[in-house]
Amino acid sequence: MSIKVNDQVYQFGVEPSVIREIFAFGLERAQVVGPENVLDFSLGNPSVPAPKIVQDTVKAIIDNQQPKDYHSYTPGPGAPATRKAIADNLNKRFGMNYGPEDLYMTCGAAASLNIVLKTLIAEPTDEIAVIIPFFPEYTAFIHAQGGKQVLVEPTEELTIDVDNLRAAITPNTKAVIFNTPNNPSGVIYPEANIKAACEMLKEKSEEYGHPIFIIADEPYRELVYTDEKVAYIPTIYPNTIVCYSWSKSLSLAGERIGYIAISKEAEGYDVIMPAINGAGRALGYVCAPSLFQQVVRECVDCEADLTQYKINRDLLYNALVEYGYNVAKPSGAFYMYIEAPDKDAEAFCKKAMEHDMLLVPGTGFGTPSYMRLSYCVEQAKVEKCLPVFKKLMEEYK
Ligand code: PLP
Repeated sequence: MSIKVNDQVYQFGVEPSVIREIFAFGLERAQVVGPENVLDFSLGNPSVPAPKIVQDTVKAIIDNQQPKDYHSYTPGPGAPATRKAIADNLNKRFGMNYGPEDLYMTCGAAASLNIVLKTLIAEPTDEIAVIIPFFPEYTAFIHAQGGKQVLVEPTEELTIDVDNLRAAITPNTKAVIFNTPNNPSGVIYPEANIKAACEMLKEKSEEYGHPIFIIADEPYRELVYTDEKVAYIPTIYPNTIVCYSWSKSLSLAGERIGYIAISKEAEGYDVIMPAINGAGRALGYVCAPSLFQQVVRECVDCEADLTQYKINRDLLYNALVEYGYNVAKPSGAFYMYIEAPDKDAEAFCKKAMEHDMLLVPGTGFGTPSYMRLSYCVEQAKVEKCLPVFKKLMEEYK
């Protein structure tokens, strides 16, 4: 008997994933040379533990409440008290005017993005513009929600090239995804750059007679190592939908907790918010994890501990620049984006593997000359990798 499954999702499931292959290689090598000798910089899994207040809050909830109070369903869009605490926090930090009804709790940023894409993509011809380099899952999300992905070449500094973005906008453009601080580059788009892009999007929205939304994908908002400002895009461009999660800022990646926020000033708010609720329902993302809705309510003002990431970043950046590598300015997130000396990152990553150093070539991120290094690892691994980078650069000279 043969069975026909959905071909699109079947392809997502079987297509080779470079990151998965690298990860599997790392596990194999760990058996041979010992895990401490595998310099695995492939994954973006936070290495800094969640702040102690998170565990204390979990314990206090379990000790002081009945199981039904933290294991049961909350309302579909999330517990009102949690949404209010987040709205108050955003209003205080960014001068917004969110009410709890403007937030929808989700299972992480990936769920937020899928819900927002399902909400906005109404026709198979609808387009979502994405700035290179980009989180490769966007491709699966956009296609799964029935839209077309349009890639936009960035500036040399890997920020938004407003002219390229203008050229990519068509009457079918429903939204543009901005991810700053960026995965994979660690670049923060300067506020002036975002303002210029928003100005252009306003003009294009008027020209085409419908709003072009910005989807602000912000899981790295709090991971910043410089005094650069991470613009809060809804304050510049009201037609913005924010997708946030605590996966990286509070190291809660496995707990699947995040939110969507949209201001009442956004055009079409009255149809978008019900559609977000409907998309959450249709995709099975109603009622984000109850226990962690309570935890983020209590920890909403808690700050990320960036000490170790900053040490790793500084060690790596200073050494790599000294050895002659071209590195994108690593202002935020926990990724370093390094150009291969001969611009062939796949070949460089293969050579690095011979030294048990695992990097991800930038092909899937849209920039085949770069490779991504995730420095959310123990400092000892960062220290061990420096001589390998030095040796590899010498081979290219
Ligand atoms: N967006 C970007 C840019 C990411 O890097 C990630 C995860 O690595 C996500 C979204 C998904 O985040 P979450 O784990 O909260 O679903």
